[in-house]
Amino acid sequence: ADRALIARREKVLGPAYRLFYERPLHLVRGEGVFLYDAAGERYLDAYNNVASLGHCHPRVVEAITRQTAILNTHTRYLHEGIVDYAEALTATFPAGLAQAMFTCTGSEANDLAVRIARYVTGGTGIIATELAYHGLTGAVAEFSPSLGDAVTLGPHVRTVPAPDSYRGAPGEAMERFGRDVAAAIADLKRHGIRPAMLIADSIFSSDGIFAGPEGFLKPAVEAIHAAGGLFVADEVQPGFGRTGEAMWGFERHGVSPDMVTLGKPMGNGYPMAGLVLRPEVIAGFGPNARYFNTFGGNPVAAAAGRAVLDTIREEGLQENALQVGRHLADGLKDLAGRHAAIGDVRGAGLFVGVEIVSDRAEKRADAALTTRIVNGLRDRRVLISAAGPRANVLKIRPPLVFSRENADTLVAALDDVLRAR
Ligand code: PMP
Repeated sequence: ADRALIARREKVLGPAYRLFYERPLHLVRGEGVFLYDAAGERYLDAYNNVASLGHCHPRVVEAITRQTAILNTHTRYLHEGIVDYAEALTATFPAGLAQAMFTCTGSEANDLAVRIARYVTGGTGIIATELAYHGLTGAVAEFSPSLGDAVTLGPHVRTVPAPDSYRGAPGEAMERFGRDVAAAIADLKRHGIRPAMLIADSIFSSDGIFAGPEGFLKPAVEAIHAAGGLFVADEVQPGFGRTGEAMWGFERHGVSPDMVTLGKPMGNGYPMAGLVLRPEVIAGFGPNARYFNTFGGNPVAAAAGRAVLDTIREEGLQENALQVGRHLADGLKDLAGRHAAIGDVRGAGLFVGVEIVSDRAEKRADAALTTRIVNGLRDRRVLISAAGPRANVLKIRPPLVFSRENADTLVAALDDVLRAR
């Protein structure tokens, strides 16, 4: 039956739509940290950073259902929901990041950030990392090199390598990132392009899950500010408590962004995203600036977003991410003592990367083994993925309700896969 569905899918959706795993999953239901397939099998979800509160969290389901039955409309009427939510959201940010704008996707949030940055600075230049993914709109795809052949980086875009804490000394990674950004700024200027912004994840995801050393963003942010550009923190992945150490990933680096873009877990699956920014940045957008988004920040989105924020706080999910993240990292490091294929375990909280190598001394990437591990775990009903420039970094990014027991299940399954190879 799945084979027939795959064939129908290919026929009607075309070749650009990819499926995870050699044996694709046909999911029908989710609850908490578990997903269920059409045959009734249960899978531990260690990958999904949309359903951060766990799949189908009753609080969010209830908030969405209740508000849908009362009112949903576009955002040009007065409604408490969006104001309440924007107040609650901005209250989770350091002082200064005090205003919010809402979109439906992370791509749109980054698209709006570029438009604002260009207007405010009068520049056009953009600096992003080498394998970044910031979204799918025309403007954003131009600085999302991870999209591969399908996009051409814009002539005003410069890319820099993400700070690789595995292949360089930690201190060196930090200095190098600042130096590379400064060099990119100089190159833009040499070509007569004024820099508008540096955009960076505070934990690089598609670049290979680099989270440290803490503070590595600082010299780079200083460089872009000195050049008259803005710093946009893409918190679509590390935001909403995932790092365990802070609500927002950039806070780990002691930097203050001019704009922060948000998405994925913001509505625990209800499509919503947005920007939090400095009032002076929006003010610079001009007295005649207009912003309208039919669905962004509508009453149902506001209700979902509010339920997510309240649940993160009331269930202590940031603290859980910290504690369970540490437990998971300890388990993985312990495993590295037994399996030479594990070259590095890194990350923050429940955002963990495991580098798979064929030679530890040489740090030689093993992409083929990485693929076998991802599929082997899937066969053992544990779901993860892989990332990085060499496609050899296990990407572990479970819902924030992940328990120690769930972490142990994941580590035991990985042990089993590595033993069986
Ligand atoms: N930024 C980052 C860091 C992302 O990971 C993604 C999505 N993978 C986006 C932006 C784009 O978000 P969306 O898919 O909601 O447009």
